[in-house]
Amino acid sequence: MLSLEQETGAWDSVLLEPFTEDSFVTNLQQRFKRDHIYTYIGNILISINPYKKLALYSADLAETYVKRGPFQLPPHIYAIAATAYRWVNERNEDQCIIITGESGSGKTETARIVLQFLVLVSSDNKEAKIMKDRLVQANTLLEAFGNARTMRNDNASRFGKFLDIEFDYKGDPVGGHSRTTNLALGDRNFHIFYQLLSGADIHFLKNLKLQRNVEHYNLLLTEDNQTTQAEEEDKKLFLYTRTALEVLGFCVDEVINIFRVVAIILKLGNLQFVPCNNIDGTEGCAIKNDYELYEICELLGVEHKWLQKALTCRHMEGGVVSDLNAGDASRTRDVLCRTLYSRLFTWLVNKINIIIKARHFCKRKVIGVLDFYGFETLDKNGFEQLMINYCNEKLQQFVVTLTLKNEQEELIKEGLEWSRIEYFNNNQICQLLEHEKHGLLPLLNEPHVQCDSVYWSRVEQCCSGHTHCLTTDTNLPPFCFQIRHYAGTVVYNIHGFVDKNKNFLPKEISRAMYNCDHPLMPILFPEGNPKRCSIKQPLPIATQLHVALTSLLNSLSNRQIHYIRCLKPNEMKQPRIFEMALVQHQVRYLGLVPTVQVWRSGYCYRLPFAQFLCRYKMLCVHTWPRWRGSPVEGVSLLIRSLPIPSAEFTFGRTKLFVRSPRTVFELEDFRHM
Ligand code: ATP
Ligand code: MG
Repeated sequence: MLSLEQETGAWDSVLLEPFTEDSFVTNLQQRFKRDHIYTYIGNILISINPYKKLALYSADLAETYVKRGPFQLPPHIYAIAATAYRWVNERNEDQCIIITGESGSGKTETARIVLQFLVLVSSDNKEAKIMKDRLVQANTLLEAFGNARTMRNDNASRFGKFLDIEFDYKGDPVGGHSRTTNLALGDRNFHIFYQLLSGADIHFLKNLKLQRNVEHYNLLLTEDNQTTQAEEEDKKLFLYTRTALEVLGFCVDEVINIFRVVAIILKLGNLQFVPCNNIDGTEGCAIKNDYELYEICELLGVEHKWLQKALTCRHMEGGVVSDLNAGDASRTRDVLCRTLYSRLFTWLVNKINIIIKARHFCKRKVIGVLDFYGFETLDKNGFEQLMINYCNEKLQQFVVTLTLKNEQEELIKEGLEWSRIEYFNNNQICQLLEHEKHGLLPLLNEPHVQCDSVYWSRVEQCCSGHTHCLTTDTNLPPFCFQIRHYAGTVVYNIHGFVDKNKNFLPKEISRAMYNCDHPLMPILFPEGNPKRCSIKQPLPIATQLHVALTSLLNSLSNRQIHYIRCLKPNEMKQPRIFEMALVQHQVRYLGLVPTVQVWRSGYCYRLPFAQFLCRYKMLCVHTWPRWRGSPVEGVSLLIRSLPIPSAEFTFGRTKLFVRSPRTVFELEDFRHM
């Protein structure tokens, strides 16, 4: 018969004997086979996407994890969430759960389970109940508008989400705040489009001047003119979205206005421009399917000629009006679609934030949950993928810095014996992308970079300085460059980079939109107000992302961070298949093996002597209630009096280091006895 250990593998990879990359991955595989999808590396949780529903989540189990220390029960998301919940209440410290992993590895699902857990374990008084309901519905709404199907993931996040849940002193959620990064637009198949077309009743669709069939809308066609079939699932999800809007308190008119914008975007995407000759012999264009424009204008509440002019003409200096050619007009249409969608999304996020804001001012602490779009490589990769992958490089750099680099540096600084552990450092790739002078992203903002071909020549120049991680090889398709990201090599096509980054919206469009009767338009296009003397263009997309990310990551530095690292078991999105090579690849690029090594020879917890003494002095008669000697002597007396092996503790120059997490939990248990 198998022993329990063999049957379930090791809960904590740190305890594996012998420890090698092979034994580590094999342990994950053994556990995955038996539906044990969670494994620890010390207090970091590894989660492998099961691609099937598992009976692992319930109110009873959540309670159990709250009551017992995390190392007394099998590894679970609940254990991580319970620790964060306990610490936010007991230690009064802000917490943060960072969930990382590539596209389809299960981050969003994990974030949902964390939120569910917090809903389950906090109290059910009336006010808390209302707030919890809102937080869950806010999540549903953000997913409907911010997620889309890709070849990697049927529910791929197209935005980065950082949700802060605020708790009062009793541990009840009293509010929340969601910070999002810009949507990865360009993938046009956001769930909401399909949900609306398949879920809305026929009268509502008629009101919105929409047809039910997805094939009718260019924006919903993929490059090879295929549509992703709207399914029964979309119908059901549309109901959920409507319920979410209702629970969050959007009134009937607001809901109609939101869906009118969605309809306007779908119909704008169908507008076609045909070339025609202007009187002066230059090339202009006309709208081929004028009826579509009439309907759009009805939905917007604007005169037909306003929008038509805005889409096809430009005012030049000196009052001259010039007609756009068909290509430029199509580009203007695309920018308008993108801008409308992303501004609608931002408006929704702001509305949600007002709704979930804590009512009363009270001293509160937060648990933040970070769930971004995961690293992705599609068949064709463009500007959107570069934004997504840049974001993932930064997150990887952040996690590696905190779990590997700082850890080792501190041990050396504290004078502890330490043999250096090598790990992959992605600083070079981050620099390649964001370096102020010659990073690929800042280069996009240079004044003379006005079109893709100029940008291309700058990228080629860059190559000479970064031969290692950037190439524009002749083996690649034309206008493609290749970056060796931490998580794999991606080939990007440069088409549309400059326009998408600039996101320049002609003032004629802003003005036309501002003048619409649709109540959201003046809010979404405030720069179109003619009373404003100058129209300020928003920051370029890459700059916005850089600023948002830097500020977010900086703000996490004074929080207690918990890590969940998600792995994808196969590319087929199938249950029960564990592709060894695929998992091994992720294990390598996430730096999990060095992480285990650091844990094996390192320490999970440390506190300056005085703080340690202050927290645990009650456990020893010599130090309680007051210790008059030096803190280090006090700590020494204290730990000698505890029934814990002395090998568990090491004295640094200024801090006491504790080897295993179990000891920390034992110490905490003693305090509560
Ligand atoms: P992206 O970076 O593209 O947003 P992601 O890491 O957020 O990807 P998810 O959307 O969370 O990935 O997961 C992809 C799919 O895998 C889910 O839609 C779900 O079907 C399945 N899945 C993930 N985690 C679980 C789980 N714990 N139990 C059951 N199914 C899961
Ligand atoms: Mg996701």
